[in-house]
Amino acid sequence: MLSSADPHSSAPGAAAHVEAARDELAAWPELRFDNSFARLPEGFYTRLAAVPLPDPRLVAVSPAALELLGLDPARAAEPEFAEVFAGNRPLAGAQPLAAVYSGHQFGVWAGQLGDGRALLLGEVAAPHGNLEIQLKGSGRTPYSRGADGRAVLRSSIREFLCSEAMAALGIPTTRALALVSAELPVFRETVETAAVLTRLSPSFVRFGSFEHFYAAGDVERLRLLADYVIAKFRPALAAEPDPYLALLRSAVHDTARLVARWQAVGFCHGVMNTDNMSVLGLTLDYGPFGFLDGFDRDHVCNHSDDTGRYSYAMQPRVAEWNCWCLGQALMPLVVACGDGADDARAVLAQWTGAFEAAHREAVRAKLGLALAHDEDAALIEALFERLHADRVDFTLFFRNLSRVHRHAAADGDDARACRDLVVDRDAFDAWLARYRRRLALEARSDDERAAAMNRLNPLYVLRNHLAEIAIRDARQGDFTEVARLLRVLQRPYDEQAGREAYAALPPDWASTLRLSCSS
Ligand code: AMP
Ligand code: MG
Repeated sequence: MLSSADPHSSAPGAAAHVEAARDELAAWPELRFDNSFARLPEGFYTRLAAVPLPDPRLVAVSPAALELLGLDPARAAEPEFAEVFAGNRPLAGAQPLAAVYSGHQFGVWAGQLGDGRALLLGEVAAPHGNLEIQLKGSGRTPYSRGADGRAVLRSSIREFLCSEAMAALGIPTTRALALVSAELPVFRETVETAAVLTRLSPSFVRFGSFEHFYAAGDVERLRLLADYVIAKFRPALAAEPDPYLALLRSAVHDTARLVARWQAVGFCHGVMNTDNMSVLGLTLDYGPFGFLDGFDRDHVCNHSDDTGRYSYAMQPRVAEWNCWCLGQALMPLVVACGDGADDARAVLAQWTGAFEAAHREAVRAKLGLALAHDEDAALIEALFERLHADRVDFTLFFRNLSRVHRHAAADGDDARACRDLVVDRDAFDAWLARYRRRLALEARSDDERAAAMNRLNPLYVLRNHLAEIAIRDARQGDFTEVARLLRVLQRPYDEQAGREAYAALPPDWASTLRLSCSS
């Protein structure tokens, strides 16, 4: 099944000293490896080493992610740090491997995929729970399918920043620890710079990991994978009459909650293929993602997505479709437990209710409504109609909404920041009057409600133009903006003095930015 091609055969001219360094282990006693995925038997992965990256430079480190691993920030200042996270120096205790998976890409069965440019170094016992450490862009693997196994600086900066930004927003996600780059040219639409991103996650198992063994008719490995995920991450499910149906239920609900959070913050993933869907409900594989600037339900952030399959409005339906793929893949296990297609269908039918409940709750909270009233759905729909019609800036509108009082200020000043963002002021005023009447039913004071709203309507999100500015500087060898932007995004709900520009409307040139699958 696997290609026997030597993934190192095309290692692009690594310097001799880098080769020598590969034999020297980095002994970091604070990283206690316990590589559970590597204990799965043959057929789940291929063991191999990273392809060295000549003369790596450290671009960025996430202090919060260092802390997750229990790593002293001083580590990042050691020259060895960049060597380790470029894949040039193996960590003692790591057992690097590339995992196999398959998947549906843009709705079409794509067959075998796998870690074509990623390498799982291993799993470490960390203070807040075990985490896997994975390099992305570390060279070819048996799953590279003719591609170069590399990642470019541009998209790696975007994934680095967005992983950490999502975590700070409180949205489930894989994390980013470190980013290194090197002069090595990488060929995309243009010649770009190579980079290796270090990601952290409890697990990188995807819907496509299950689809892989289902498609191969390999029920034994399908069961091993499901048992692994249940035992390690969802142990309570083992006691259920059908743990596999329970696993499907948990993935359906976790995914529904995740996508509700995406919609509520205006995040578009861009490539919701089943190989990019985490079975743990984490945001995974950041590519041509984007945060909405002006609210547009039909926004397509991925320029390669000609049909708009992964538009903002489509995300919930596509996530549901992906859950059906997972359900299909789990069927042999569900059937073996004595359940049938109807049972799986009943679990999958929970998707809509789970998503709608999570989304309604999230939007109600964005509006500062602590109570639930029948008319809320209509109030919310009317607001989204207005936001869409006027392409109102999504982030700023909700942030500014916290200033609105239940009784209009005499000069109308409390609503000015929102009103300034809309085009049709009369239509907005009509909605505002409705909103104020609804606020009158709430028990909280204006100040209490505003404080609560500002804790969940971010002021700072990773707008495309902010990432682009950091990328332009980084391409010139100046990484300070990456670090500055990271610091801003790590406190998305706090007004930060001197950082007003990061919360501003996008400049005109932002609308010309084009993001494709190329990364
Ligand atoms: P993605 O669209 O980034 O989620 O990737 C889809 C599949 O293509 C995965 O199996 C990736 O590992 C693989 N892939 C993407 N880019 C590369 C690359 N430059 N080299 C090798 N494999 C890649
Ligand atoms: Mg992927």
